[in-house]
Amino acid sequence: MVRIAIDPDLCMGAGQCALVAPEVFTQDDDGFGTVLPGREDGEGATLVREAVRACPVQAISLGDGPAR
Ligand code: SF4
Repeated sequence: MVRIAIDPDLCMGAGQCALVAPEVFTQDDDGFGTVLPGREDGEGATLVREAVRACPVQAISLGDGPAR
């Protein structure tokens, strides 16, 4: 289990995350990437790491969540 976060200071609204892993990421009204509510743990999402790689400014971080 991971904890997905986007650093809003780094995100420049490229939208790659929402394209690559739309089950976890979306874009807000201004085009900046956000994690969908309740999807911060990335449960069942296989493309989260691809989205991390796709982000041109490395704004997406994967933290280790509590073990279950
Ligand atoms: S890919 Fe990166 S820069 Fe683009 S919207 Fe997502 S977090 Fe922001």
